[in-house]
Formats: sequence, structure tokens, C-alpha cells
Amino acid sequence: MYLDYNATAPMRPEAREAVMEAMLAVGNASSPHLPGHAAAARVDKARKQVAELLGCSPGEIVFTSGATEANNLALRAGYSTGGGVITSVVEHPAVLEAARELTADTPNALTLLPVDADGLVDLVDLHKALASSKVSIVSLMAANNETGVLTDLAPIVEAAHAAGALVHTDATQMVGRLPVDLADLDVDLLSLSAHKFGGPQGVGALFIRRGIDLPFRPLIVGGGQERGWRGGTLNVSGISGAGAAAAAVTCALPVEQARITELRDKLEVALTQQTASSYINGARDQRLPGVSSVTFPGAPADAVLSAMPEVAASDGSACASGAPTPSHVLLAMGRNREEADSAVRFSLGYATTHRDIDVAIASTVRAVAQVRQALGSAI
Ligand code: PMP
Repeated sequence: MYLDYNATAPMRPEAREAVMEAMLAVGNASSPHLPGHAAAARVDKARKQVAELLGCSPGEIVFTSGATEANNLALRAGYSTGGGVITSVVEHPAVLEAARELTADTPNALTLLPVDADGLVDLVDLHKALASSKVSIVSLMAANNETGVLTDLAPIVEAAHAAGALVHTDATQMVGRLPVDLADLDVDLLSLSAHKFGGPQGVGALFIRRGIDLPFRPLIVGGGQERGWRGGTLNVSGISGAGAAAAAVTCALPVEQARITELRDKLEVALTQQTASSYINGARDQRLPGVSSVTFPGAPADAVLSAMPEVAASDGSACASGAPTPSHVLLAMGRNREEADSAVRFSLGYATTHRDIDVAIASTVRAVAQVRQALGSAI
């Protein structure tokens, strides 16, 4: 049972087909001959498809190797105007580490906003940080990868813009799971990764709102591709797959969203009823449809997952390198180390079935009981 869509989703058939088709063709998208034009046409098509999913113009999309690169690029660009960076303690390492690296010589330039027990940033803290020094960029994630908690971006954008700061959002877990409309959401920069919504791994994009002109040096210089934001021959097959996945999810999203929410709710009701003392992490009504971070006190998540190899879920920190560090997200939400180590993240997606959920429920209930018994946990 694959329930780790937040780590990566299976590739959609439409994406597989587009990748294969582009791989079998020859052509560098920058070459001025027919095969080159054909490759450029595939990239143009994908750019339109991604733009349509986001409600922006194709010219506002820069393809990258993933959200990690897009986040690094966004922060680097935003920071180039000379003010500080505001982000939060629960961001993905691709934002946190990029922000730390950029501000290494001027640590005062970095503000990390705390979150409450639900995983939400307090607007009052943001206003205070914006008022205390000149800020170039505010970077807050649209949806948290561990808990699915959603950030209410509209008031954040309003406050940041009023203070003259740009807004970036890491929307890697949101894109393809909930509607995103950049005609309405006034962020300046947005990152995504194709493999989270059924495209291939190793392809992402940074949305850069038209008119934004920043004095930064790109991460990768070379042939000036992607309007100078990122040098290098375009990954035509990967980009084609990203476009096809974007087009598929644009059509399927309303149906998938409702179906996945129903499955997630079924999982949560069953797990919290059938395992004593378990609870869901993150704001109940402000979460992605398909994510469930469940703490089973007295049952370390790594032991629970080992006791149910038939269920591919996550112990919260698998997005990183597999190193056994406690979840910085759950710690920031006020959980202690033991609680943070006892959370299993189930993440569902477009191909998840009722049977997957039935098996996950039965396996988890059994595994938690087994681990608690083995450890003599008094629950
Ligand atoms: N941001 C978030 C919120 C993520 O969940 C991930 C993937 N775990 C990334 C960024 C990085 O994406 P990628 O590894 O595809 O570059």
C-alpha cells in the first residue's frame, strides 16, 4: 500500500507517455533547426500546461530541477535587494537551509517565525518582524509536507507588500492537491516540484511574477536559458512529463480532492477510534486533503513502520536523508521528542483506493498494539 505521496507520487500515465515520446525524439530546445524547434515546442506546451494549472502566464515559469532548486533560486533572488529574510521554523530544509546559507555572514538578517500547537504562524509575529527591520523577502510555505497544515497566504501577502517585501511560497505540497490561482493569490514567487503531482522526479518550476526584476546572480550560469534564470540544456523529456501531469491534474483536481478527503477522513476516524490515545497533528480544518500525521504515544514511528512493511508511509522526516532526527516541525509545534518520534505520516493521492485505506487501518492498529506490547508501553 503506497501511502507516501508527500515524498513522491506515482507517475501519471499521461506523464509517462509524454516523457517517453520526448525521450525518443532528438533535439536541443535551443537549436535553430527542425528537431530543435520540435523540442522547443514540447517545452512551450509544457510551460502552458503548468501555467494553466497555476493561473499564470507561461512567460512567468522558469523550469528547474525541482522545488529545492526553485526555493534556493527564489530566496537568492529575493535576498539580492539588500534587506532581510523572514521565514518560519516549520519550512522544508530547502527553504530553511537556503535562508541560513544566504544570511550566514549576517545572522540578524534572518527571522524565523514560530508556529502554534496547530502549526500555524501568528500574523502578529509577522507584523512585528516586518516592522523591526528592512525585509526583502518573506517566504512561507503554502502547505506543510509533514502535517499538511495550510498557510493563509492572503493576509501575509498584504502585510509583506505593505512593508515593501516580496513574498515567496513553497507550494510544493499544495500544487496539484488544492486549486492554486495566481491571478488571485498575489505572491511574487512560487515553487513547485512535478513529482509530487504525478510528473517525473527531477523537474520543478519557479513562478516569477511578471515585472519583477531583481539584481541577483543565478545559481547556474551558462547558456542563458530560461531568460537567464537558469543556464543549461533544458530537460525536454522531464519538462514534457511535468506539463502532461499538470494538464491531467488540472482536469482531475475537483474529483480527486473530494475523493482523497473522504479516504483521509476514513483513515483518521478509524485510527483514532481503534488505537488508544492517538491524535492527529496540525490544524484540523486547515490541512491538505490527503495528509494525516498521527501520533501513537508509546509506539515509536520507526518501530511501527517496521512492523508493517506492507504499508509504505513515513516517520515524518523521510523527506530528508533518512537520518534519524526528530521532526523539526512537530518539535516547533510544542511536541516533546518522544511525541515527535511517535508520529506516522500517511499521505494519500490520486491512485489511493478504499482497499489501500482498509489495509492501512488494519495493519497500523495491529502494528501499534504489537510495538506497545513489546515495549511495555503503559497506554
Ligand atoms: N518543499 C517541500 C514542502 C517539499 O515537501 C519538498 C519535497 N520533499 C521540497 C520542497 C523539495 O522538493 P524536491 O526534492 O523535489 O526538490
